[in-house]
Amino acid sequence: MIPAAFDYVRAGSADEVVAALGEHGDEAKVIAGGMSLLPLMKLRLATPTVLVDAGRLDDLSYVRDAGDHIAIGALTRHRDLETSQLLGEACGVLRGVAAEVGDNQVRHRGTLGGSVAHGDPASDLPAVLLALDATFVVQGPSGRRELAAAAFFEGFLETALAPDELLTEVRVPKTGPDAWAYQKFNRRAQDWAIVGALAVQVAGATRVALVNMGTTPLRASGVETALAEGAAPKAAAAHAAEETEPPADLNASSEYREHLARVLVQRAIEGAHV
Ligand SMILES: Cc1cc2nc3c(=O)[nH]c(=O)nc-3n(C[C@H](O)[C@H](O)[C@H](O)COP(=O)(O)OP(=O)(O)OC[C@H]3O[C@@H](n4cnc5c(N)ncnc54)[C@H](O)[C@@H]3O)c2cc1C
Repeated sequence: MIPAAFDYVRAGSADEVVAALGEHGDEAKVIAGGMSLLPLMKLRLATPTVLVDAGRLDDLSYVRDAGDHIAIGALTRHRDLETSQLLGEACGVLRGVAAEVGDNQVRHRGTLGGSVAHGDPASDLPAVLLALDATFVVQGPSGRRELAAAAFFEGFLETALAPDELLTEVRVPKTGPDAWAYQKFNRRAQDWAIVGALAVQVAGATRVALVNMGTTPLRASGVETALAEGAAPKAAAAHAAEETEPPADLNASSEYREHLARVLVQRAIEGAHV
């Protein structure tokens, strides 16, 4: 449970993070809240030789009204999301689901950017951002680029981020305070979802996303199509496990996860007042 030796660089700006990542190459890793990276290092599943600490970049911690969308700094802690009045009014789903992440300690340390960059399909917030068609702003050595959430999550703990890039901002549409529901099935309140299901209305259509039903967060497109064609929640939810590859582990078999997905999606659709 002791990490391998590493050097530590505390960055004072996003530019410094990118420069340090460029200097140290694939051996370097950004650390934000450390809630996902440090456990991996303690198990020696991650052995970066240099940690570039972005955790004190306060200028990347914000929730702002940017006109047609809400802009959120990548270093914004889950706790700041769950207590943001602006988010509660303009994108209640993100505020509400942030309150479901881990426990208080995790939410006070963990960041939105870390949750996204880690690319864990069992995480709650990436599924929300996928459902919202969020945009990720990324800074690298040749400047900034924007990535759609649908193109970002590539595999288990794999994303479209290059090793020398820093996620700086997440942009979400204004969906209002309500018209969403998240069903998180777990054994203890602070645990990751065994399966999670989200339904949210965006611009008059219902989006449905799944947590821990494959190697990435997933959109339940069969459910969305059925709803758009007028299916009732139960009939639409029958499509929830289509095109998923749920894992099997000590918590649940793949078949049980498929069953859970159908049950939870129905509840989420009904909860979102579709
Ligand atoms: C006990 C416990 C329970 C938890 N329960 C849940 C849960 O129920 N639901 C849930 O969703 N999550 C859960 N988590 C994970 C938590 O949400 C983490 O905060 C989050 O996954 C990672 O955020 P972080 O800031 O700590 O990232 P870190 O651990 O610092 O980094 C994670 C990864 O992202 C990279 N990274 C971080 N920030 C950036 C950036 N801005 N740009 C580029 N790369 C970056 C790092 O290099 C690293 O690879 C739990 C964690 C713990 C320890």
